Amino acid sequence: MLTNIKINEDRLWNSLNEMALIGATDKGGVNRQALTDLDKESRDLFIKWCKEENLTITIDQMGNIFARREGKNNNLPPIMSGSHLDTQPTGGRYDGALGVLSALEVVRTLNEFNYSTEAPIEIVMWTNEEGCRFPPAMTGSAVFSGLHDLSSALAIQDQEGVKLGSELERIKYNGSVACKSRPIAGFIEIHIEQGPILEMENKNIGVVTGAQAQKWYEVNITGMEAHAGPTPMEIRKDALVASSEVVLLVNSIGNNFQPGGCATCGVLEIVNPSRNVIPGNCFLTIDFRHPDDDKLKKMDEILRKTIKLIEKDKKVKIEIKQILELKSNSFNKSIINTIKDVTHKLKFTNKEIISGAGHDAVNINSIAPTAMIFIPCIDGISHNEIEDIHKEDAIRGAEVLLHSVVELANNSSKIINN
Ligand SMILES: [Zn+2]
Repeated sequence: MLTNIKINEDRLWNSLNEMALIGATDKGGVNRQALTDLDKESRDLFIKWCKEENLTITIDQMGNIFARREGKNNNLPPIMSGSHLDTQPTGGRYDGALGVLSALEVVRTLNEFNYSTEAPIEIVMWTNEEGCRFPPAMTGSAVFSGLHDLSSALAIQDQEGVKLGSELERIKYNGSVACKSRPIAGFIEIHIEQGPILEMENKNIGVVTGAQAQKWYEVNITGMEAHAGPTPMEIRKDALVASSEVVLLVNSIGNNFQPGGCATCGVLEIVNPSRNVIPGNCFLTIDFRHPDDDKLKKMDEILRKTIKLIEKDKKVKIEIKQILELKSNSFNKSIINTIKDVTHKLKFTNKEIISGAGHDAVNINSIAPTAMIFIPCIDGISHNEIEDIHKEDAIRGAEVLLHSVVELANNSSKIINN
């Protein structure tokens, strides 16, 4: 490891702060949704900083931005690092931006120390990671990885019916380079943890070994609307009461699949609610996650079996539709080991961790050796304006990223695909 090279702590921190001004909210967060004028402003600033480092900028058809620093051997596929600059409407300052600007800090440091790596290095900013304006999430990296086709991605509409593709054109980030996979020696994304584990266990660095399997469902519950006064309890077909049973069932499935299981009903709606009508129709969503595909399958089986009992018991009809399935992801062992090794050499504490959230890295993992670095975030909070981190944690993360990227770029032929 290059012991004489260190990142510039204030430069990283100041860039994070400067980026956070674009779309800054009163409560200290950021609202910089994909392909808005503010998104354009953040892209322009990122590109300006990259040009100051003499990087070659490429923009693809999805508006993904690549900034390349040549190596000694430019026939080698690059080591790539980055994340996203879009945020949730009530987003924080570091979710995404940390990954893009830490990768920039790596390049700035290498330029400052005039250090050449063997393989080239590319910083990447993926379009529409959050998916709040244009669902689903992680579209830019999904099209790049061949997991989502370009034309349907460009046709995604926001709530006003505006297309993703026309917004890309409007902000002039509809690049001409084909958005498709190409050889990448390795991809590392650094991100805030978005959960409380590192902070609770007092660890500096999360070495992310993979991502959870997920199943998402939409559930429609149909009972019968009836007057709240004259309808005796025993003949009611109360969709809300049945929904409540489903919510409790989902929660108990989560509790029964520890460690690792997560089970959430995030939306519950009564159709045409009225205070003196027994609810006849309800809609709810279920989000199941587990690091183990087989355990997730069991959670699914229990859900479906028990819902049948609720249906019978509450005299309602319950339709359950699975709308998303993601297999669990294992990141690349060579890259995981490099990150761990660097963390030890820098004398930082670390913990292996599985990502509970989706990330661009999970998409890229399907086409290139990939891993992630997490740093703690205060109280585990993200997707919230009060999301915050400690400066020292950002610095440690960027140091680990720097040395991992250099190590991988100098030994890219040793990265074993698993
Ligand atoms: Zn993010």
